[in-house]
Amino acid sequence: MKLLLFDIDGTILHTHGSGRRLVDSIFLELTGRTAPARISYAGKTDPQIAMEMAHAVGCPESERDEVVQRSLELYTQRMLDLLPASKVTLLPGAAALIDRLCSKSDVQLALLTGNVEPIAFAKLAAVGVDKYFTFGAFGSDSPDRYRLPPIAQQRALDITGHLFEKDNIVIIGDTEHDIRCGRSIGAYSVGVCTGYFGRDELSRHKPNALFDTLEDADHFERTVLLRVSS
Ligand SMILES: [Mg+2]
Repeated sequence: MKLLLFDIDGTILHTHGSGRRLVDSIFLELTGRTAPARISYAGKTDPQIAMEMAHAVGCPESERDEVVQRSLELYTQRMLDLLPASKVTLLPGAAALIDRLCSKSDVQLALLTGNVEPIAFAKLAAVGVDKYFTFGAFGSDSPDRYRLPPIAQQRALDITGHLFEKDNIVIIGDTEHDIRCGRSIGAYSVGVCTGYFGRDELSRHKPNALFDTLEDADHFERTVLLRVSS
């Protein structure tokens, strides 16, 4: 069996900045301040973004933990309300590839995303692909993305009864953090250029495979599934 761990934003779908607008408004509401410059969200977990925002708006250290916690609660509640009416777009080829992978007897799909768990599933539901995923590792498990692969591995064992070794794991995402996160555990890392980063940028981080989009499922199978052991 192979465990394929998919990132969500920039890999499966795009939410057109709705999360960023919501985070900005929540921090303004909680602290009365806005961040002087945009912080990068790429490859970061929701709690990590909240911590960086608290710092960026100049939140006093004594209040920071509470503001971060409250912001995450508000973000989760409001994003769940907003998502059904928000513009969420599937990225090219993602749904068809996931559907095809799901039908393979030696493939187990799961998520590895910085989203807190309820938002991860709500985003997938907004574009009708939540049915393909039952578990994963999420921003709500750790603010540090690099701690998520072993959590996904343990959940996969608990849920499927199968121990996936590093040689059987693939991590698919659109940022250097997804690629490095995969490499950090010795998994097969796949970069996809459907987020904010192009081929030149992602290839610098030396993924095992790099795709412009997920549209060519035959090529994906040849390049990824045939090179990863079961
Ligand atoms: Mg992403």
